[in-house]
Amino acid sequence: MKNLLEAYLNNIEQILNFSDIAWWLIDCKNDPEHFYCNKLMSVNFNLPNDKNKHPINSCDFFDDFKDCLKSKDTEYSKIFPFLEKKRNEIKYFSSRAKILKKDDDGNIEYIYGFIENITKEVNNKNSVNEYVDIIDKNVIISTTDTRGIITNISTAYCHITGYKKNELIGKKHSVLKHPDTPRTLYRDMWKTVTSGKRWDGEIKNLRKDGSEFWIKLLISPTFDEFGNIKCYTTINQDITDKKIIENLSIKDTLTNVFNRRQLDNLLEKEISYAQRYNTEFSLIILDVDHFKNINDQFGHLIGDKILVEISNILKQHTRKVDHIGRWGGEEFLIICPNSNLNVGENVALKLKSHIEKHDFKIFKNITASFGISQYKKGDNIDDILNRADNALYKSKNNGRNQVNTLI
Ligand code: GH3
Ligand code: MG
Ligand code: MG
Repeated sequence: MKNLLEAYLNNIEQILNFSDIAWWLIDCKNDPEHFYCNKLMSVNFNLPNDKNKHPINSCDFFDDFKDCLKSKDTEYSKIFPFLEKKRNEIKYFSSRAKILKKDDDGNIEYIYGFIENITKEVNNKNSVNEYVDIIDKNVIISTTDTRGIITNISTAYCHITGYKKNELIGKKHSVLKHPDTPRTLYRDMWKTVTSGKRWDGEIKNLRKDGSEFWIKLLISPTFDEFGNIKCYTTINQDITDKKIIENLSIKDTLTNVFNRRQLDNLLEKEISYAQRYNTEFSLIILDVDHFKNINDQFGHLIGDKILVEISNILKQHTRKVDHIGRWGGEEFLIICPNSNLNVGENVALKLKSHIEKHDFKIFKNITASFGISQYKKGDNIDDILNRADNALYKSKNNGRNQVNTLI
């Protein structure tokens, strides 16, 4: 057997010496046991290359699997780090070992194995893991299945929403829906992505604690090998700060409805839209009646509170698509897109009645006067505003707390 073994080893050694796999064999019958290996093995592990044969005691890292194989009689496989002293570098090796032969009593005679240098693969995997870690911590990312159910979220996603991973996985994104975000936006988003296209936009959401945050998101479908949608990936950007600043520049600080500048912008947009698509819109102007008296009687602070309450009434009793703003002092504008003079008049009558009935606590019987106009082809901002203003003037002159229109 010994000679046979030597011959066998010499043959395969010639082949294996050219391969980049280190191999070895232990002759357990000898006392002390003997160890054989190819050149790569002895070079890699600084083993004395005494015709690649030496006592097993010189390489103690074999003890581990030797014991394992002896006791359990199984195949052994392990990844182990190895410090290369010359370069002071850690290398990684994959080690596999098996029993080659046992005697009739079941005692192991020969064990052999292969050791592969997998340093590159391990390092690559480590650097990929590092990238994944960086992405997980810094990119607000989520994946959903084809039903829109969340299948994974990043740690950054948890931070911005205030939820833990297990509180969101398995749920739909609607958990985060802010009441201000219209359902039509979600419908449009879903329609786009289910048709295989990407969707991007800005959305206001709710955190777990009820506070709001804004994200700019890009949803991309992922396809399987047959071209069917497998899942959706959403990459988000936190734009809450940008939105706060944006909000400050378009909203009136006291009432939180649009300011005059934004009303000007919106009016311009509505006029361009109506011109281009041949549509109509109506404009309501309202002025609180005898507001001077309220200020004089109760002071400016109470006057301010009443302006806030009136803004809230306007918000509550108009559609989401209507634009409400403070035109100045105690005057408000409401732009009603896709509405004619009749619709505008009905909205104004409803608002007039709500203000009249509202319990302002300190001051009873607060009323407002209204003027309504409708966009006419060729109108500029001043034209439509002047007609609404003249209608308001009529309401004031005819005794206040009323609605007048001027086409
Ligand atoms: P009417 O419109 O019915 O003719 O009478 P009015 O008393 O409401 O009319 P006027 O335009 O003479 O007075 C508007 C008052 O609104 C004058 C001003 O002191 C008050 N006002 C304007 N802006 C504010 C504000 O921001 N806060 C408060 N508290 N009052 C304001
Ligand atoms: Mg006024
Ligand atoms: Mg007034």
